[in-house]
Amino acid sequence: MSEVEKKYISYNHVHKLCQEAAITIKEFKPDLMIAIGGGGFIPARILRTFLKTPGSKNIPIQAIGLSLYEEISSDTIEEKTGVEVVRTQWLDFSNAHTVDLIGKNIVIVDEVDDTRTTLHYAVSELEKDVREQAEKLGRQDEVTNFSIFVLHNKDKPKNAELPDHIMNTGRYVAARTVPDDWIAYPWECVDIEEHTTNAIAQGYN
Ligand code: 5GP
Repeated sequence: MSEVEKKYISYNHVHKLCQEAAITIKEFKPDLMIAIGGGGFIPARILRTFLKTPGSKNIPIQAIGLSLYEEISSDTIEEKTGVEVVRTQWLDFSNAHTVDLIGKNIVIVDEVDDTRTTLHYAVSELEKDVREQAEKLGRQDEVTNFSIFVLHNKDKPKNAELPDHIMNTGRYVAARTVPDDWIAYPWECVDIEEHTTNAIAQGYN
């Protein structure tokens, strides 16, 4: 990121992006959402409103928490050797009534795809969990599908890749693909009036 230009995004704008993306996501017939916290929580909740079909149940939302920590090489302090993803919250598979991913169409929700490290970790770990659970329960014949929804995908070289069965099948949905600027989301701000004024001025309301 060179000159840091901040993009202010209002709650209204987030709402409209979820509404718009829901049209595509509905085609996937989602059974369940997994929101990556904290940024994925509010978009997931809004998305649920637009995925609801009259007469059917609300789509459940499960939460996972992931944080990125930069690994600093011991030789040269400045040199970043990579990042480590740390689980701060995960799914509890001990009760099949509360968490059953097998045979489901699952949408993983986060606010932004920046370096792609977080999404890569979430997808590979969740796919591994599904394989292990299916084997344990003898349900390997059931097909589980993952898709991804983010509000923003930053157009930049990524540090990790997502599987072709998500990227090449229309199961990666980014409401907007944007330049590599810092995005200020409304839930992070202290002064919501000022934030919204800035968002309106930039056309993101
Ligand atoms: P990743 O690099 O793994 O794709 O993104 C990791 C996390 O960094 C995101 O989930 C998000 O919390 C944070 N992040 C990356 N870029 C931005 C940004 O422009 N704005 C905000 N608010 N968070 C960001």
